[in-house]
Amino acid sequence: MMPPDMPFLTRRQGVLHVEELALPELAQAFGTPCHVYSHAALCANLRAFQAALGAHPAGARARVCYAVKANSNLAILNLFARMGAGFDIVSGGELARVLAAGGDAGKVVFSGVGKRRAEIHAALVAKILCFNVESAAELERINEIAGTLGKRAPISLRVNPDVDPQTHPYIATGLKRAKFGVPIDAALALYEHAARLPHIRVEGVDCHIGSQLLDCAPFMEALERLLVLLDALEKRGIPIRHLDLGGGLGVAYRQDEVAPEISACLAPLLDRVADRNLDLIFEPGRRLTAQAGLLLTRVEYLKPGDGVNFAIVDAAMNDLLRPALYGAWHEIVAVAPKTGTPTAIYDVVGPICESGDFLGQKRALAIEPDDLLAILSTGAYGMAMSSQYNTRPRAVEIMVRGNEAHVIRQREEAADLYALERLLPTRATPVPLAGSTPDTDKNVASHAQMC
Ligand SMILES: *Cc1c(COP(=O)(O)O)cnc(C)c1O
Repeated sequence: MMPPDMPFLTRRQGVLHVEELALPELAQAFGTPCHVYSHAALCANLRAFQAALGAHPAGARARVCYAVKANSNLAILNLFARMGAGFDIVSGGELARVLAAGGDAGKVVFSGVGKRRAEIHAALVAKILCFNVESAAELERINEIAGTLGKRAPISLRVNPDVDPQTHPYIATGLKRAKFGVPIDAALALYEHAARLPHIRVEGVDCHIGSQLLDCAPFMEALERLLVLLDALEKRGIPIRHLDLGGGLGVAYRQDEVAPEISACLAPLLDRVADRNLDLIFEPGRRLTAQAGLLLTRVEYLKPGDGVNFAIVDAAMNDLLRPALYGAWHEIVAVAPKTGTPTAIYDVVGPICESGDFLGQKRALAIEPDDLLAILSTGAYGMAMSSQYNTRPRAVEIMVRGNEAHVIRQREEAADLYALERLLPTRATPVPLAGSTPDTDKNVASHAQMC
């Protein structure tokens, strides 16, 4: 009943523990729902990546840039920064987080199709490692902003190698029709243009073909296609210093899935570039955090139904969106099953007013009201995708390190959720728009008719 790859999770006298701490004690101390992470697992996951690179002669020139969007908690970013990781960001907000967490801007790559002017400006000022440029228009914009700062922006073009990653369509990103990157056939011409722009410095080529890949072959296929491009570029006098192969390495969410070994996946890629003067960049997100986290929730009600029984729990799609968004499957286990509780088949659902608000369907569970459930493998794209829908305060996040439990994000309170909201004035009042000077009398007159 447990997926592999979560060795920090054990059952002792029937009770589920994260490292040295029993989950019922965490629930008692911090309440539910509650995101729980294992410090040891986070360390081990990044170390496994670093070790796979360290074991290879070409690995010394490779770099891990953690994809912040998978889980952007400052404590996790800080841990990875202290372990030497760089970061892959997709917004100015993520840049701010990385810097606030003590990350090194010089190890940051900036991906994303919609980089705004202020975000580009901030990244240039911070001196990031590279912009992963996703369109011709973005290239022009970066050139222009770098010009106003008297800088040359380091860039790589994100190319679409048109490789099928065999994953869910929402997380397949490298196909021809994707909104991401530029088609590989168009890349050569765009690189030639980029090389002539005065405020651009061509550094690399990058791709990100998709997420949750359980087979390494598509990475090699993508690499082969990028190398063809790279050779063509070198022939035209545009040398490439790094290849960024993106993220996407999958994890085993269910027992019948097998996650590829990190070293088995990376070694052939490193072999392939070993005789080249080339740095490699990897942007793993999910693989570093998914199996390091679980969502702890309490059963509120059991509701037997016609053909389907519901276990209504205190976590919901706002805490963990993946099942509702992708039909994603997470293992769900009883934390401390009591002997004698009958097993039944349940849809595990939250209190949100949406039929899509489920965390798991058709699960055999021996549970009673007030029992605790652990939803496993939620460390990536769990809290990071959470919302406050139905005015549900976001859950507390706890990091367990040995026998210590640390709050790494406090539970929100209802008042936090509407703290930025304002009531309308009861009588017509001039409201100046930024930059305009209000003409008081006229505004009152024109806004005087209220319902
Ligand atoms: C989301 C993303 C990643 C990380 O993907 P995972 O599947 O979590 O490893 C890496 N690079 C880019 C550009 C991304 O958009």
